[in-house]
Amino acid sequence: MTDKMQRIISFCKEKGFVYPNSLIYGGMANSWDYGPLGIELIENIKRTWWDRFVRGRTDMVGISSALIMNPKVWEASGHTSGFCDPLVECKSCHARHRADHLVSESDWKKMEVEMEKEDDKEGFVNKNLPSCPNCEKKDYTAPRNFNLMFKTFVGPVENDASVAYLRPETAQGMFVNFSNVLSSTRRTLPFGIAQIGKAFRNEITPKNYIFRTREFEQMEIEYFIEKPEKEEDWQEHFEYWREEMRSWLDLLGIDRKNIKENDIPREELAHYSKKTVDFEYHYPFGVKELYGLAYRTDYDLKNHEKMSGENMKYRDPKTGEEYWPHVIEPTFGVERTLLAVITEHYDEEDLGDGDKRTVLRLPFFLSPVKAAVLPLLKNKSELTKKAGEIFEELSCDIACHYDESGSIGKRYRRQDEIGTPVCITIDHDTIKDDTVTLRERDSMKQVRIEKSRLKEVLKDVVKGDTSLFRQDA
Ligand code: ATP
Repeated sequence: MTDKMQRIISFCKEKGFVYPNSLIYGGMANSWDYGPLGIELIENIKRTWWDRFVRGRTDMVGISSALIMNPKVWEASGHTSGFCDPLVECKSCHARHRADHLVSESDWKKMEVEMEKEDDKEGFVNKNLPSCPNCEKKDYTAPRNFNLMFKTFVGPVENDASVAYLRPETAQGMFVNFSNVLSSTRRTLPFGIAQIGKAFRNEITPKNYIFRTREFEQMEIEYFIEKPEKEEDWQEHFEYWREEMRSWLDLLGIDRKNIKENDIPREELAHYSKKTVDFEYHYPFGVKELYGLAYRTDYDLKNHEKMSGENMKYRDPKTGEEYWPHVIEPTFGVERTLLAVITEHYDEEDLGDGDKRTVLRLPFFLSPVKAAVLPLLKNKSELTKKAGEIFEELSCDIACHYDESGSIGKRYRRQDEIGTPVCITIDHDTIKDDTVTLRERDSMKQVRIEKSRLKEVLKDVVKGDTSLFRQDA
């Protein structure tokens, strides 16, 4: 593991962003919990996404569908038969690996074609795969397709008829509700259905901290468009969404030079896709997928109609023509966003003379805590009483911390570490003239303002307006 990754993991645990799950029982491999600051940051990411892509648009509606759906959904979508990863086991150390991760995914696709012609699959993989990364021997089993869906049983009887799955993606919830949304909201094409929610995949090798886990959250959009007459018709929508995803990343403060857009070659596309672009981020452990954008054609609605017998078509209000809309799907992983945002904004700043400070330079709207109320001295009843009143007044509108322990310098640093945009210091002058000191995270500049202006000023600062700190006070 890289140094930077190690530092981020320790930082997240220490500050209350991410904890290892079930730690008192020795942990649960690759399972993580989100602490007081982690959950606030996640909520800020999700709320911003929802406001931007759902509430802020006239062509989008949101839904929330069940985690356990009728198993026929997964037959129609192709997950029951095809949502598999190639698994090989090292007979020497018993480590299990995704064969397509031992080589590149595209090399594995080529190898699969070659392997089809061979009877001795085990011999083939042992000849062509690199040695086991765990024990460096080469003694693999033949690969087998491992279905990633979590199986469970619904009701008290465990038999074939009661088998169900935890959803491996949120997308199908939007497809099966297409007709409901159409009739209840009277939308016309193009329009989208969005959802934020949990998805579950029994990943063979979950790894890289919260990057690949078995339980995670997705923010997904199925954007329904008219049946394209020619390639440019869907490409126009595809490019529009590519641009939307880029602007979303800009909003999160992620430098474009840390993003790589990977156009997936035709032969590697998923069964439902005619075009996919992976947005990859430069994580400390390598450049890996952050988001995906796919053109899913009319694959899903068509297959749900076939499987269910229900009409899943759209009727053009002008021409009366009925058809299955085509779909552009932008998909965003919540935990991968969290990790990218922390990686991008985690900074160890050298202040000179051996002085260092850790600063989480989050865009202010993402900061878990927006302002910290700090009385200059503790046990000074006048100051702490005043600070308490200010905290109460602000905290119903703005996420605030109250802290009176340790020197003021240490308290500032504690807030810098968790990305708090401003600290409000209450001192003796506050008692005399009802003014407070505001100190900004990035510039560390301080200004004195009247207490009565606090709410209004903080609201501007959270929106990113820091001009106050650049004026000569
Ligand atoms: P990968 O190739 O990394 O397995 P994928 O292409 O299978 O990802 P999608 O099916 O496109 O992923 O899922 C959409 C999004 O959900 C991904 O872009 C990612 O942000 C997130 N995601 C997928 N699998 C996981 C996982 N195991 N843990 C955390 N997030 C995930």
